[in-house]
Amino acid sequence: MSEQLIFLDGEYVSKENAKISVYDHGFLYGDGVFEGIRSYNGNVFRLEEHLVRLYDSAKSILLEIPYTKEEMQQIVIETLQKNNLKDGYIRLVVSRGVGNLGLDPFTCKRPSVIVIAESLALFPKKLYETGIEIVTVASRRNRSDVLSPKVKSLNYLNNILVKIEAGLAGVPEALMLNDQGYVAEGSADNIFIVRGNKILTPPGYVGALEGITRNAIIELAKDKGYEMEEAVFTRHDVYVADEVFLTGTAAEVIAVVKVDGRVVGDGTPGQVTNDLLESFRELVIKDGVKVYNSALNAG
Ligand code: PMP
Repeated sequence: MSEQLIFLDGEYVSKENAKISVYDHGFLYGDGVFEGIRSYNGNVFRLEEHLVRLYDSAKSILLEIPYTKEEMQQIVIETLQKNNLKDGYIRLVVSRGVGNLGLDPFTCKRPSVIVIAESLALFPKKLYETGIEIVTVASRRNRSDVLSPKVKSLNYLNNILVKIEAGLAGVPEALMLNDQGYVAEGSADNIFIVRGNKILTPPGYVGALEGITRNAIIELAKDKGYEMEEAVFTRHDVYVADEVFLTGTAAEVIAVVKVDGRVVGDGTPGQVTNDLLESFRELVIKDGVKVYNSALNAG
């Protein structure tokens, strides 16, 4: 296999040489934004939506990305091509760049831009068949009026604390509540619950990131005639749901079969979850930006 190439500030470098200064404010302060994107059989799923979120996040923190959206799209495609990847996970990072040791972002001259593309399977395949167990953790979601969940920033300490608690509890993912005790999301995924023919997911203002996968599932659910609603709910509603599932670029759509020791439904992935997962798998190879032109595909 040829060597992995990473886009770093305008150049493609090996993994070994993909290094960033210790003075980069992304490293010093988590000052920057990022995206996690997936390519499915040469189709970068909803790349445009990911880039809109990236540029909106950057604008919100007054960070000017030194490429246009179109150029960035090209960089993502080129990174996949250079690594001969049709199926891959793409990590796009834009940090404030190199400055002095103080907080002041105005000392940073130019943002650092990184695109990494590699193969990734978050959860073992088997877990998509069996579903996963989660627990509610003590760490709460950042208040959305303090740091907007719409800004996908490099500051993921809140989520990392959740991941630590999940790890200590011996489960692969955990449920985070907001400051008022309402269900927000997982450490890196959104939550959906199903009760009867109603499907609910928390609205963004509760503290959830408005995930690209979440939005795709909302659309699919509506198209399929389910009663889909963004609504505020509590842990009780999760405990008594017929089905629970998580969505995210890395996690895709994964069933939750146990929450805080309560078995969800009959303890196996439910019919609605499987139905939406199937539609999602059809969508991800169609809806997005193609990495290889058809001539290449034929070859
Ligand atoms: N919530 C958080 C906190 C996340 O980091 C992610 C992953 N980006 C998600 C939800 C899911 O969002 P998406 O479907 O856009 O990957």
